[in-house]
Amino acid sequence: MKESLIYFSTARVQEVAQKMKEVGRQYEQLFTDLGRQMFADMADLHDASEMTAVCTRHVEQALSAFGNNFPDVSPVACTKGCCHCCFFPVECPPQVVIDIARHLRAKESAANLSLLRHKLAQDMKDRKPPLYRAKCPFLNAENLCAIYEKRPLACQCFTSPAPAQCEQSVADGRDISQHPLRHRIYQAATTMLLACAKKQGRPHGQVMFIPALLSILEIEDGLWQGYGI
Ligand code: SF4
Ligand code: SF4
Repeated sequence: MKESLIYFSTARVQEVAQKMKEVGRQYEQLFTDLGRQMFADMADLHDASEMTAVCTRHVEQALSAFGNNFPDVSPVACTKGCCHCCFFPVECPPQVVIDIARHLRAKESAANLSLLRHKLAQDMKDRKPPLYRAKCPFLNAENLCAIYEKRPLACQCFTSPAPAQCEQSVADGRDISQHPLRHRIYQAATTMLLACAKKQGRPHGQVMFIPALLSILEIEDGLWQGYGI
């Protein structure tokens, strides 16, 4: 009787499964190491904008490295002018809000800043429980973000495959899907900014973007949450 050739076996499946498990573990470790790198590069910085810049650099490098080396199987349907996510209440690490406040102070006239403070205060009145949804005061007439380059990490994380789901969420508060890789990278940045604040003995909880920004813009000069503004 002719001996049959063996192309496939349970043992071979087990061997490959083991290798994939190990690669999966290494993939997860990449995110841990990204966070560790961010923390190491920020831990000795005390300026909020410098910390935010380090995070931004790492986020961009990580997005590029993952994007260039892994297939992207998660669809994103975000387009210019699509803005249902800009009705969501946004939370930020304190450093991010300070950086945005400084950017606005450097760029805007006193009259524009006064108008902006008025809009931020109005936004806080417009957001009603339980969903606290309202059109973000930074959304302009063309439905574009007026601080797009500096927008909070949470805003950069909005990356849904389904605009209709985002629109429905404005009305009923349902969760919206986000691009898993981007979400993880931005989450690492947020977590590490808060971890650095904690290590430095500063408040280390996320703050609501609009009320926090208004507080900072109302201070002429001095400290906010232990940071110079
Ligand atoms: S997250 Fe949703 S609402 Fe926001 S740009 Fe993407 S698809 Fe549009
Ligand atoms: S800051 Fe910009 S991106 Fe974020 S919610 Fe407001 S308009 Fe949208």
